[in-house]
Amino acid sequence: MTVLAAPKGVAVLGSTGSIGTTALRVLDRQRERFRVTALTANSNATLLREQARKFSPSFVGMVESQGDGDEEWKSGTEALVAAATRNDVDIVLNAIVGAAGLDATLAALEGGKRVALANKETLVIAGDLVRQACASGAGEVVPVDSEHSAILQCITGHPTAQVRRVVLTASGGPFRDWSAERLASATVEDALRHPTWRMGRKITIDSATLANKALEVIEAHFLFGLPYERIDVVVHPQSIVHSFVEFIDGSVLAQMSVPTMEIPVLYALTHPERVADEGVPAFDPVKISPMTYEAVNHERFPALRLGIAAGKAGGAAPAVFNAANECAVAAFLAGKIRFPDISRGIASALDKLSGMPADTREQLLAADATARRHVKEMFGC
Ligand code: NDP
Ligand code: MG
Repeated sequence: MTVLAAPKGVAVLGSTGSIGTTALRVLDRQRERFRVTALTANSNATLLREQARKFSPSFVGMVESQGDGDEEWKSGTEALVAAATRNDVDIVLNAIVGAAGLDATLAALEGGKRVALANKETLVIAGDLVRQACASGAGEVVPVDSEHSAILQCITGHPTAQVRRVVLTASGGPFRDWSAERLASATVEDALRHPTWRMGRKITIDSATLANKALEVIEAHFLFGLPYERIDVVVHPQSIVHSFVEFIDGSVLAQMSVPTMEIPVLYALTHPERVADEGVPAFDPVKISPMTYEAVNHERFPALRLGIAAGKAGGAAPAVFNAANECAVAAFLAGKIRFPDISRGIASALDKLSGMPADTREQLLAADATARRHVKEMFGC
């Protein structure tokens, strides 16, 4: 007789975003295995209500209060930590964008939960604190990011000592073929036209500058305990191979799929198991060919080099890199600065603030706030 385990409770933080809505599509198809027990959003109350009606979670959190007196709706940033630490939550899918996701990740790990982490900024700001929280309790981080999911799928069962290096793939973004002169006048609309992925606005701009790949290199360093010298990046415009792992015997494993986040989202929930999902498109090697690879052009995309240098410098530098980038991207999206100003803002903040103290959460948040102020003052916005 097969005894079915009770469905695991999942909190989806940032349920109204690109990853959040993707996750709910996946969870809707996996109702015997998972139950959505908590949902949070920042501003989109209409969609959050719709989701709450469909999944009947026991907790709904709205970060920006809507002031409608609806009692089961908790508001404020504490709502994120409250959702992440509930007894009926086994897995916290952190799909919040930016530094706002940090406390929920730390609280969930301290509470012994699995964190299915899309919110890469959390690891970039406080990778050591996240690692400590995992080491000191029963919590664990499983990546949602497609590159890191690919690496996890390739290395599971192999000790890190057998990994010679990992190679993260990058689509190259919408400006892969643009000259430096043309990049200087790129508009917000141009930058939001990503060739292979439909994502939230912030990560789409990060993909255009390649700051996203820098965040991912730092993310890989903390997730897999690899030194930066063993993490490389290659441009692969088709986004079919999500990363390579090269082993010490020269053998290379890659994980492939059509570009959909549904696959890494589900894997983050079920790792190391795999479960059937008929909802994802079938893989057809003929349709996806040819697959091509190019070296990164660091002159045209300086944010990648800046981010890797920040990762290598350690201390406050990754948090400063992340905060300066978040602030500059918001200014670019608001039409206040030009595209190349994003990496200029990051470079200036790193130059001035990398040496700030970074041992505690409070110090990291102070470095984050100072970097944001620096970028705002630099551009007068
Ligand atoms: P979106 O902008 O589409 O969604 C962000 C979500 O977070 C929304 O639900 C939003 O709520 C909520 N949110 C925004 N700001 C806050 C805040 N200050 N406090 C609490 N909640 C907040 O982003 P994505 O889904 O694209 O990305 C989410 C994370 O996943 C990012 O870290 C990104 O780098 C990462 N990621 C995304 C991928 C993708 O394909 N989109 C791929 C790999 C990683 P509301 O909508 O109600 O305002
Ligand atoms: Mg990615």
